[in-house]
Amino acid sequence: MLRWTVDAGADEAIAETARDRFAEPAPPAAAPAPPASKEPRRPEPHTPAHAPRPASVPIELESADAAMASARDLAAACTTLEELRGAVAGFDGCSLRHTAKNLVFGDGNAAAPVMFVGEAPGADEDREGRPFVGVSGQLLDRMIAAIGLDRTGAYISNILPWRPPGNRKPTSAEVTVCVPFIRRHIEIVAPKVLVLVGGTAASALLERSEGITRLRGRWQICPGLSEDLATLAILHPAYLLRQPALKAQAWRDLLAIRARLAEAANAD
Ligand code: URA
Repeated sequence: MLRWTVDAGADEAIAETARDRFAEPAPPAAAPAPPASKEPRRPEPHTPAHAPRPASVPIELESADAAMASARDLAAACTTLEELRGAVAGFDGCSLRHTAKNLVFGDGNAAAPVMFVGEAPGADEDREGRPFVGVSGQLLDRMIAAIGLDRTGAYISNILPWRPPGNRKPTSAEVTVCVPFIRRHIEIVAPKVLVLVGGTAASALLERSEGITRLRGRWQICPGLSEDLATLAILHPAYLLRQPALKAQAWRDLLAIRARLAEAANAD
């Protein structure tokens, strides 16, 4: 039963005591429809933007395009990271915010020359409100330490600022809706080098459908971002934990990042 519950995405206890919903009285049956009247209908009460919503409402049922357009307008109006964090925190177009504990916005040094963008927070990140603090984050820290970096010399964020329940893969609608925020995030941080960590970040920002093994390892330009922004996709540390033999490829990519950062520093 516990395994089934975890697989369904409920992988954390949210209260000290269990609630027996079978013991609760059944909701009253729906009242019969009133006879048709010629009175003008009263408008439905307005639903406040942040009213709790059932976690199961998938974003596909809302208009992803409308939510994305609203995210784009909100993001475009922001000129600082504080403004952008506030805009994301107040954005109601992605239902993941209703199941997440915390907004996971970014971490590290926003003045650093390199920015890493991953997929989405997991349980540890959701609890702490910081990206890449769990097991794969610890590997990312070791990977960047191998080329002389830490979070004082790098900035880190994700495509999605909220954890998908049960650490499931984000849907394409969730990515579409949230991408305007991370694009603006990158524009405001304005790094010299952008590193896309894993397939979700690579395909979302490079707008390509190939898998990460094809996208990684070559410098590219992200459509819609500055052509001067050198962008490299790398294998996700969670993938490397499952496929340690691929660490050689990751090491080649890390060396390429180190060389590019050295070039950028010499050009300054
Ligand atoms: N994986 C990600 O892509 N991002 C995180 O923040 C943590 C794990």
